[in-house]
Amino acid sequence: MNDPKKFPIKPRCGFAYPGTYGHECGAPAVEVFVFHTELTRDGQFFTGRCEECAKIRGGENAGLVRREPLGNQFNLFK
Ligand SMILES: [Zn+2]
Repeated sequence: MNDPKKFPIKPRCGFAYPGTYGHECGAPAVEVFVFHTELTRDGQFFTGRCEECAKIRGGENAGLVRREPLGNQFNLFK
């Protein structure tokens, strides 16, 4: 069944420094970071990180719940 609110994650790094909205890193992702969110049905938000951005502490990486290998994760928005 096609679910219009089910978004496979992009295999690209979605890290953006504070104040750089719209300027995500965009490098090929090597792993997936998982965060808590109120925006999805399962309370989880998945986003790709490249090797360099995965090393950054704070910023958009603050609140990291866990890291996963890049796979077929998807976000289920409400
Ligand atoms: Zn990156």
